[in-house]
Amino acid sequence: MQLYPVETGNFKLDGGAMFGVVPKGIWQRTNPADSNNQIDIAARSLLIEDGDRLILIDTGMGNKQSDKFFGYYNRWGNHTIDGSLNKIGFTRDDITDVFLTHLHFDHCGGCIQWNKDRTGYEPAFKNAKFWTNEDHWKWATKPNAREKASFLKENLLPMQESGQLNFIKRKSDHFQSDSELGFGIHFVDGHTDKQMLPQLSYKGQDLVFMADLLPTVGHIPLPYVMGYDTRPLLTLTEKELFLNKAVSEEFYLFFEHDAHNELCTLKETEKGVRLEDTYTFDRIFN
Ligand SMILES: [Zn+2]
Repeated sequence: MQLYPVETGNFKLDGGAMFGVVPKGIWQRTNPADSNNQIDIAARSLLIEDGDRLILIDTGMGNKQSDKFFGYYNRWGNHTIDGSLNKIGFTRDDITDVFLTHLHFDHCGGCIQWNKDRTGYEPAFKNAKFWTNEDHWKWATKPNAREKASFLKENLLPMQESGQLNFIKRKSDHFQSDSELGFGIHFVDGHTDKQMLPQLSYKGQDLVFMADLLPTVGHIPLPYVMGYDTRPLLTLTEKELFLNKAVSEEFYLFFEHDAHNELCTLKETEKGVRLEDTYTFDRIFN
């Protein structure tokens, strides 16, 4: 098995919304804000090459939204999903499976694109199965008012209409060590219902794809919970359990949204679990 980080394109989000009740004076030490109060955000996918399977974890927000929509997110940098895949010798048509941690637009928007004459939508990965889970699919397709702006029907319905939609069979409420895709999955419900975090064994280490349980290194202390989370108290509990496990089992945490750090490890301190160190992916795994 071979893993590759795949940068799909950076953007920006409101720093206050990203840190919930934490005051700006504190969060801006780790995540400096620009003049619009926005902070740097990555959309870093992970590609798994495993035998004849090529599995992409999340896709970033894609390219099909309006200029007005993208205007809110101030995209920056040169990364594109095609450019990043090409650099490691692949194209989108090579992807056999796209695993979606959850269906917020910045995680799954890249699955769907305009068709050629821009009259409708089509899958951007024509040979791939799209993987979510049934509970999360129901949650996303009948969205609550709070998450409605994040679950875009133009991202969801074309997955189903194409026949490429598949559901992971959930065998546990918290962690299952295997799945249809060969890796373990943590289920967490604080950010959104039944978010899935892949856990992979790779080169003798355990790596967990953090998605929106821990968006950046700045979010490690327990109360640093995003304002976007639908069940913030549950996120607190889920973070505590996960961070303790991550310390005792020496996990490498892979960040999807941290624009400046790909991986970190954690340590136990008097104040609780804190950052031990950050790493580039290449430093640990190549
Ligand atoms: Zn999310």
